[in-house]
Order: sequence, then C-alpha cells, then structure tokens
Amino acid sequence: MVIFRSFASFARLTILTTVTASLCLAAVISGRAEEIWYPVPRPKIDGDKALLRVAYAVNPSFSHMSDAQLAILLAEARQVTRDHFGIELTFSQPEIIGISDLFALRPNVADDEVLEWVYDFKGDSGNRDLLVEDLLERLQTNDSQLDEIYAFAAPHLTSAPLSATAEGFAVALTETLLNRLNVWRIIPANDRRAVIDDTVYNEWTFWDTLAHGALPYDIAITNQLVASAEYYGMDVHSALRGGITVGTTSYSRDGPFHTYAFLSTFPFSNDYVPIVQLRGGARYDEEEAARLAGAYLAHEIGHVLLHLGHPFNQSACVMNPAQLLDFRAWQNNLDAERCALGSSAEMVPGAAKLSYNAAWVLQ
Ligand SMILES: [Zn+2]
Repeated sequence: MVIFRSFASFARLTILTTVTASLCLAAVISGRAEEIWYPVPRPKIDGDKALLRVAYAVNPSFSHMSDAQLAILLAEARQVTRDHFGIELTFSQPEIIGISDLFALRPNVADDEVLEWVYDFKGDSGNRDLLVEDLLERLQTNDSQLDEIYAFAAPHLTSAPLSATAEGFAVALTETLLNRLNVWRIIPANDRRAVIDDTVYNEWTFWDTLAHGALPYDIAITNQLVASAEYYGMDVHSALRGGITVGTTSYSRDGPFHTYAFLSTFPFSNDYVPIVQLRGGARYDEEEAARLAGAYLAHEIGHVLLHLGHPFNQSACVMNPAQLLDFRAWQNNLDAERCALGSSAEMVPGAAKLSYNAAWVLQ
C-alpha cells in the first residue's frame, strides 16, 4: 500500500489511500463484515489530450469566485498541467450549480454508514480517543522523522504536548485539530450563520463519496469550506489545519476517467484570521487567489489523469503538497524541468494505488 500519511501529507487523498489501512477499524466501528475494495482503473489519455467537465458548486453563505476569476483559475490549471504533465486540457464551460443540488446527486449510500467515519464535533459526541489513536499510528509509521515532525509542528500547536512522547504529541495534535475546527462553528459567514452550520457540506467523507453515483462532472470546484475530522486518514498537516481539505481525488462510478476531484476555493479567497495564519500571514488579491487555486487544481488533475502520488518535500513538484495553506510559497517553488514525470517513484503514473468500496457503488 502506498502510504500517503507521512509528515508532509496534505490533502486526505482519496478514500482508497486513507481507508484501506483502516478496514479493521471500520469493522470495529460498524460491526459489519469486511468490505470489498477494488482498484480504480487507470484512465486512457488519447494523444495527451483530455476534456474535463467542470461544475462550480456555490454555497450562497460564502463569497464565491466571479466568472473572470474562474477563467483565470482554469487557464492556470491548463498551463500548469501542460508544463508539468505534458497534457493538453479542455475544460467544459463551468456549470454553476447550487451546493444543495450538487449534493442531491450523491449516491444512495446510506448517510448513517458514511457518518460512522465522521467525528461528530458539532454534537460534541465524537470519540476523542479514536482520533488520538489514529494520529498516534500516523506518527509511529514515520518513526524516523519524528524529530523533524515535532520541530515543524510545534509552533503551530494550540497548546504544548504534556509529554515529549509520540502519545503526548498525538494528544496535542488532536486538541489543535478540534480547537481549530470548532472555531468555524462560531465565526459567522456572510449570512451571519456560522461558517460551519448543521448541514453536511463541510464533511470530507460526503465529498469523497460524491461521485460513487451518477455525477456528470470530472471536476467540482466549490466555494464551500471543507473542514472536518474523521477516524481515518487524519495526518499531522490535516490536524494542524483544523481538518481543512483543499482538494481530493476520489473514485467516479460514471466518469470517463474513473475518478473525479473537488477543489475548495474557500482557503484561497477568504481572509478569515485562521486561514491567513495557515498561509503564513499572506493575503491574496482576487487574481492571485484564482491563479493559486488553478495551480492547485493541476495537483488534483495529476491524481485524476495519471494517478500520481505525493513526492513529499520535492518542492519543484506540483504533486508535492503545499505546507499548511501556504500556496504562494508552494507555487513559487514549482519547476517543471526539475520534476519531470518519472523523476521519482511518486511521479510515475500509477504511483497512487487508488481503490473504491464496491458496496457503496452497488447501492
Ligand atoms: Zn494530492
């Protein structure tokens, strides 16, 4: 199994990479028989060209990108994809869709089954010990890098670890995750309701399973904040960001490439204090926000079309996840010539071993 959970892991990449190692945990939680996971077929890219169908799913509670910004975003994604992967993209005209209409396209996966993976921070009824265990496991799989991980993460923790052990650190990370996540239950959106309300639009698992049904898009861009906590797939960066996800590539039942990706523009185009802090203090104007989001969409497209992995700490690579939300530094370091396809194991097409839960597709 490819481990996407190391120190620099950014987006919680796909149900596949995050869930497969957690099947035992899933069985414990659900009490059901072990599920069956199939590999996602690699897409066929004819003549290094691809057409991607785009939706822009808008939650009216938040600011959203203008048509002009969307055009910049998609142009930047095309350029970065051409430079780094040698693929010529064509995007459909983005279809503007209300977020409730997009979620109406979700498959008939029982919501209570999906919710079993979700830490219920809204109802304050989640199992904190399970979160700690998951993060501890993540730390222990990166045993040789622990000093480096601690040095990086310590300034970003909301409270210091009570002990200088992996256990103490896992607890501090969990506290940080939940503190930063709960803030969004208080911070008001444009309509004066909290940024994270009682809908499920913020929940990563719902986005991750969105295309297990009849989703007519390959790319779903949204202005929604996707921030949540799950009993699997959290990592150091996810925790420090308060569970914010920028983008994820997941299985698509009907899509021509067998995958779809979502990208949240929220972290690019909002200057809420927690966001600016995670950007290292940076504020982006409208043009820069669109350009950075477009470059980050190219990262997801590398997962979608080529099943590339994460070449951690190879800052020239668009597939190297950004650190926290510092997209400006991330993009400044990109250099296609220094990160060709095949230049490292993670940059070999097929490096990401994507898979999907057959039971969820058949329902
Ligand atoms: Zn990624």
